Amino acid sequence: MHLINADLHSHSHVSDGTLSPAALAERARAQGVELWSLTDHDEIGGQQGARDAALALGMDYLTGTEISVSFAGETVHIVGLGFDAGDAALRAGLAATRSGRRDRARQMAAGLAQAGIGGAFEGALRYVGNPDLISRTHFARFLVDSGVCPDTHSVFRRYLTAGNPGYVPHQWAGLGEAVRWIRDAGGVAVIAHPARYRFTPTEEYALITEFIAHGGLGMEVVTGSHSIAEQTRYAETALEFDLLASRGSDFHSPAESRTELGALPDLPGRLKPVWGALQHRIQRARRRPLTETRLAAHP
Ligand code: AMP
Ligand code: MN
Ligand code: MN
Ligand code: MN
Repeated sequence: MHLINADLHSHSHVSDGTLSPAALAERARAQGVELWSLTDHDEIGGQQGARDAALALGMDYLTGTEISVSFAGETVHIVGLGFDAGDAALRAGLAATRSGRRDRARQMAAGLAQAGIGGAFEGALRYVGNPDLISRTHFARFLVDSGVCPDTHSVFRRYLTAGNPGYVPHQWAGLGEAVRWIRDAGGVAVIAHPARYRFTPTEEYALITEFIAHGGLGMEVVTGSHSIAEQTRYAETALEFDLLASRGSDFHSPAESRTELGALPDLPGRLKPVWGALQHRIQRARRRPLTETRLAAHP
């Protein structure tokens, strides 16, 4: 089977990316992506633009989002793919998940002010493309551009992670809720970048088994945030739990992202690609081979 270049994890300025959905689609296409998904955090406002741009460029499309979930004291990200973007329960769930972000941002700014950094709320807002979706990434961009830190990674390390002045613990969606919103809207739920969570083996086992019990079906194996060793490890995990495997860059910005759209290793051959189970949900661009077109015209 020909392995297609699928990139099923990326962010636009509708969440914490810097490009518009249409600009992202163009960049993905130019990088050779054949099947794409825009997976903005807790938000599907960019789906129509992403889909229209993808199809116009000859690229197949799956709807997407990345839902913030609280599990065992850690924030876990659940990617949803191939859902019906008009589903009312999904839309309400995402709106509820987004709703605490503004207050959280005010508290983050208060913490930063105590550490001597004033004006961070207004500062971060200047970087926000969607006022409903203010995230730590927008604070990071403000702190880099105002010279407080040399790069976003050091902002997170010094200010925006647990134990640091701009960090505010937050209650996100429940794991079961997020999986159900996706599943009941006809999509597939995927555990994003599993190597990024600071879980004990017991906690990780609980995450995976509860995720499956709620109807979750997939796991990211090849992602911009996995090393080759982590990719190998989670390929084994996906096989062990019979999970569908996903592949995505987690691209946010040309200036910040180390992994370019579509520029990832192929999924290891023994794995079942998540897009194999989503064939009926893929929105297909018109680029049928000539012979097929002729056959269709002269049945
Ligand atoms: P939030 O949803 O507001 O908590 O922001 C989470 C986002 O921050 C993630 O999706 C990443 O884009 C970004 N992020 C988290 N940790 C780091 C880090 N260490 N370096 C750079 N960006 C990060
Ligand atoms: Mn992000
Ligand atoms: Mn994530
Ligand atoms: Mn992401």
